[in-house]
Amino acid sequence: MPSLFNKKIETLTGVGAKRAEMFNRLGVYSVGDLLTFYPRDYEDWSDITDICDVVDGETVCIRAEVAAPFQSGYTKTSKFIAKTTVYDDTGGAQLVFFNNRYISYMLKHGETYRFFGKASHTLDGVSMISPTFESDDSNKTVKPIYSLTAGLNNNFVIKCVKRALALLPDEVNDPLPDELRKRFGLCGLKEAIENIHFPESLEALAQAKKRLVAEELLVLNLGLQSLKSHKRSANKNIITTDYSAEFEGLLPFSLTNAQKNAVSDCVTDMMNPERTLNRLVQGDVGSGKTAVAASVCYTVIKNGKQCAIMAPTEILAEQHYNSLKEILESVGARVALLTGSLKQSEKNSIREQLQSGALDLVIGTHALITDKTVFNDLAFVVTDEQHRFGVAQRAKLLSKGNSPHLLVMSATPIPRTLGLIIFGDLDISIIDELPPGRQEIDTLIIDSSKRDRALGFIKSEVERGRQAFIVCPLVEEGNGDLLSAEEYAAELMLNYFSDIPIGILHGKMKAADKEAVMLQFSKNEIKILVATTVIEVGIDVPNATIMMIENAERFGLSQLHQLRGRVGRGSEKSYCILVSDSTTEMAYERLKTMRATRDGFKIADADLKLRGPGDFFGSKQHGLPPLRVSSLADTKSLELSQKIAEYVIKDSDDLRDDRYRGLKSEITRLFKNAGEETLN
Ligand code: ADP
Ligand code: MG
Repeated sequence: MPSLFNKKIETLTGVGAKRAEMFNRLGVYSVGDLLTFYPRDYEDWSDITDICDVVDGETVCIRAEVAAPFQSGYTKTSKFIAKTTVYDDTGGAQLVFFNNRYISYMLKHGETYRFFGKASHTLDGVSMISPTFESDDSNKTVKPIYSLTAGLNNNFVIKCVKRALALLPDEVNDPLPDELRKRFGLCGLKEAIENIHFPESLEALAQAKKRLVAEELLVLNLGLQSLKSHKRSANKNIITTDYSAEFEGLLPFSLTNAQKNAVSDCVTDMMNPERTLNRLVQGDVGSGKTAVAASVCYTVIKNGKQCAIMAPTEILAEQHYNSLKEILESVGARVALLTGSLKQSEKNSIREQLQSGALDLVIGTHALITDKTVFNDLAFVVTDEQHRFGVAQRAKLLSKGNSPHLLVMSATPIPRTLGLIIFGDLDISIIDELPPGRQEIDTLIIDSSKRDRALGFIKSEVERGRQAFIVCPLVEEGNGDLLSAEEYAAELMLNYFSDIPIGILHGKMKAADKEAVMLQFSKNEIKILVATTVIEVGIDVPNATIMMIENAERFGLSQLHQLRGRVGRGSEKSYCILVSDSTTEMAYERLKTMRATRDGFKIADADLKLRGPGDFFGSKQHGLPPLRVSSLADTKSLELSQKIAEYVIKDSDDLRDDRYRGLKSEITRLFKNAGEETLN
C-alpha cells in the first residue's frame, strides 16, 4: 500500500480541510492511515435476541416488525419524540426516538428490521431508546465502531473507509509471501483489511484479525531483533570460582530463594565456557535486585576482574554506591562512583584507576559510557532499571570490554512472551518473592476536596515518627496550572507543616544538592520529601510510610507502581494516597487498578492495554511502531509471531531473500524512527 500511504486523507471525496484536521487528530493523515485505522469495536447484528429474553440494561440486537404507525409529539423540554411498537414471535417492545422527524419514513409500518441498542424494562414492558437499525436483508451483520473525535461520527468514518477501500488495487502487495501465509494459516492482506473494517461474519473478522495481528507482531519482532546489537558469543570472561555463599555471609540478612536462584543463574552462565551471561533479572520494586547484582559483582571481583553498574539517575547510582561500598570494601574490593556532577579532576582520577585496573567496581550514570571511560578488564556489566536505557546505551557500555557478561535489572514486570520479544536474546530470571516482613500498603484514591484531610493524616503519621513522600508532577513548559515543586512545597510549609522539616527534590537541582536532601531524608532529618518523579527509581527509606501523589492521573500505572514501591519497605503499615480531580472514566479505572492489586505483572498488563508498549521499551526508544490490532497481553499471538519470526529468519536468510522484500520494507518503514541504530 505504499502509494496510499503517501496519499493525503483530503484526497478522499467528502473530506475537506476541516474533516482532514479531525482525522489528523485521530492520527490519520493519509488514505493508508485510514485503512489501518481499525475499528475499536464491533456491533454484532447477527446475534439476535428474542424480545422475551431481553435482559434489563443489556445491549441487544432484536429482529422485529414495526407493528403500529408512529405516534409523535413533544416532550416537556420541547424535544420532538416519536414512538412505535415492534413485535417478534416472542413479544413486543416499544421504540422511542428523539429529534428525528423522518423516522416514520425510515421505518415502515409492517416491515421487519434489525434494531440494535440498549434495552430496558419499563412499566410498558421492553423498550429501546433511539436504537440504530438496518433493513432485515442487509447482509453486513457485523458493524464497525471507530474511535471518534468531535465532529466525526461513526457513519461518516464508515463512508470514508469504504471510499478508501475502493481505492485498493485488485492485487495488493502482501508483505507476507503466499507460502508463508499458507504455512501459518493466514489470509491475504486485502481480504484482511476488508474484513477488519466490514467483516462478513464474526468468523471472517477473526481470520482478518489473526492475520493482521500476526503481521504486526512479526514486524515488531523482526524490527526489534535488528535493533539489537549484542549477539551471543562464546565466553571470553570465564569465571572459575563461585563466591556467592561467601558474599551472603557478609549481608545482614539472608537472601530469599528467588534472589539465590537469580544469583545462581548468573554465576552458572559465567562459569560456562560456551556462553556469555546475558540475562534479565526481573523483580518487582523492593524485591532486592541490588543484592543480586552485588553478589554477582562480588564473585567477578574475587575472580580478579572488573565490573560496572549503570543506573539511570545520579541519586540511584549514589544509593547503590553507598549500600555496596561498605560491604565490598570491607573485604578489600575497590569501589568508585562516577557521575557527571563529579569534579573534572575526580572524574579523571577515577577513569585513570579504571584504566589501570586499580578499581574493581565502578557505579555510575551515563558518565560511564562516554568515550573517555576506558576499562582495564571489564568482565561484567549491570544496567539497573533497564527501561530507562536505550539498547544503544547498553551496547556502548558493553563495547568497553571484551564481550563482557551482562545483567539487566528491571522492576517493570513484563509478561514472559513479551520479554522474549523485547529482550529477545536475553535469558530471564524472575524474582517473584519479596523479602520477609513487608507490610501491606493501603491505596486510597481521593479528589482535592479531601486533600486537607490527607495532609492532616500525613501530619499525624509524622508526629508518630514516620516519614512521607509527596509527589507533584514536573512542571512542563506552558502548563501554568501545575505548581512547581518549589511553590508547592512552600505552600505546604506555610499552611500545613509549619513546624515540620520539609525537603524538596526536583530534576533541575544540582546533583550534590539532591544528594544532600536525600541523605537528610534517609537520616530522618527531613520528615516530608516533596519531589518530582526523580524519586521514582530505587530510593530506599524504610521509615517512609506514606506516598501521596498529586495529579495521579498524569502518571503511567507502572510509574505509579514504582512510586508506591518506595513505601511499605519497613515494618510499619504504609499508605499510598492518589490525588486526582480527573473526571474521566478511564482515569478512574486506571487508578482503581492501583487500588485493586499490588501485583506488578497485573499492573503492567493494564498499562499495556491502556497505553501501549512504548513505556516498556524505555523513553529512549520511543518511535517504535504503535500497535494497531495487537495487544501485547495476548500471549497466544505473541507465541505465534515468535514462531513465524524464527521461521522467516531461517527461510529468508535474515531477510536477504527477495521474496521477503515487502516485509523488509514494511519493517524499515515502521522502524524508521526507532532506536539509535538503523536497519542494515
Ligand atoms: P529493588 O529490587 O527494588 O531494587 P532493593 O534492592 O532496593 O530492591 O531492595 C529493597 C530493600 O530490601 C533494601 O533495603 C534491601 O537492603 C532489602 N533487602 C534486599 N534483599 C533482602 C532480603 N533477602 N531480606 C531482607 N531485606 C532485603
Ligand atoms: Mg533497585
